[in-house]
Amino acid sequence: MKIAVCNLGCKVNKYECDCIVNALLEQGYEVTTALEYADAYIVNTCAVTSEAERKSRQFVARCLHHNPDASVAIIGCASQNDASEFRAKKGVTYIGGNADKLAAAVKFAQTTTDVKPLPAKYDGPSDPAEDRARAYIKVQDGCDNYCSYCLIPYIRGRSRSRELDECVSECRRVAERSGEIVLTGIDLSSYGKDTGSSLAKLIRALSDVDARIRLGSLEVGVVDEELLSALAGLRHFCPQFHLSLQSGSDAVLKRMNRRYTTAQYAAKVEAIRRAFPNAAMTTDLICGFPTESDGDFADSLAFVERMRFAQVHVFGYSPRSGTIAARLPQLPHGETERRVALASQVADRCKREFLTSLLGKRLDVLCERYSRGYTIGHSAEFVKTYIVGKHDGEIAVTATALYKDGVIAAKEEI
Ligand code: SF4
Repeated sequence: MKIAVCNLGCKVNKYECDCIVNALLEQGYEVTTALEYADAYIVNTCAVTSEAERKSRQFVARCLHHNPDASVAIIGCASQNDASEFRAKKGVTYIGGNADKLAAAVKFAQTTTDVKPLPAKYDGPSDPAEDRARAYIKVQDGCDNYCSYCLIPYIRGRSRSRELDECVSECRRVAERSGEIVLTGIDLSSYGKDTGSSLAKLIRALSDVDARIRLGSLEVGVVDEELLSALAGLRHFCPQFHLSLQSGSDAVLKRMNRRYTTAQYAAKVEAIRRAFPNAAMTTDLICGFPTESDGDFADSLAFVERMRFAQVHVFGYSPRSGTIAARLPQLPHGETERRVALASQVADRCKREFLTSLLGKRLDVLCERYSRGYTIGHSAEFVKTYIVGKHDGEIAVTATALYKDGVIAAKEEI
């Protein structure tokens, strides 16, 4: 029996899917992660925006396009948020949520709806399928932050951390086969708050792991001297900091319940750049938050420019029913899209400036795949790099020109 395990959404979902793939392979199933013909499909859904939720619902039809007789299991955030949206869908024979995903995958032949309450302690799956280049290791789940626009705390539950020893041993195992480990969590910055540990302690415990280590998305509050010095002690730290911003306007940040000001954010960026002068700063930005005035939006864009981000993921705000922000006065129709377009221009400009600043510099690139004469990989700063010819492993290159969505580079002669 061939099962397609399809992932939508964030790196945590990706990690969970990799674990499900591994568990199913061990049970003897033929497994694919491509959306192609299969006897059955497991769809790990996303609900971070209403658009993501819509895509999750539509994904069922995309599976049935490949095999109209297949059964489809729905798990993840969209079904945790609203299982009823999937109940009437043709082909859907199992609906689960975020709890017990591994077990759900294994007993997926069942046809009952089975969304369980979320656990109080960390109980995520482990042992993702092999990935030679980059492996995501989930160390935390849930979130206690209750940003006013976000549904995640309601559908992923309270923050809970995986035991430090367990994280370390999985990282060691994965380092034997993958060149890079990305530590990930729904709110990675909260790691250890419920277990008497901390992200800095976890990083220190990983200091001798023989793989590049990259961090998932961080919140401003976690950046301090202790964390930065722990990161500096890693053998191969990837100096990319995805520091979640969401708005560059203090008024909007307050209404978002984000618990920091732009001045505090800028101070953390400065501290990061002092410790890691070539760090790539990346972030997320929401445009069109309810009550965001023209002035707020202008402040937001000006702040983004000032931070010299290497990459900005621009999102249009979409109301999530049940959140505080959904009850605030919304912007007029079309305004969010207009702001997204303007912010995307600023984001493109920032990225171009960052990439230009790398020309002539050395990049350490982990080779991922070969296509049409180029080896394609990502540098430690997470810059997509195209290198002429076939290469393997991690190699040192010099960036020579901007190319497509990254840079073209030549291998350094030793
Ligand atoms: S930190 Fe805020 S945006 Fe991120 S998952 Fe938690 S509540 Fe949602």
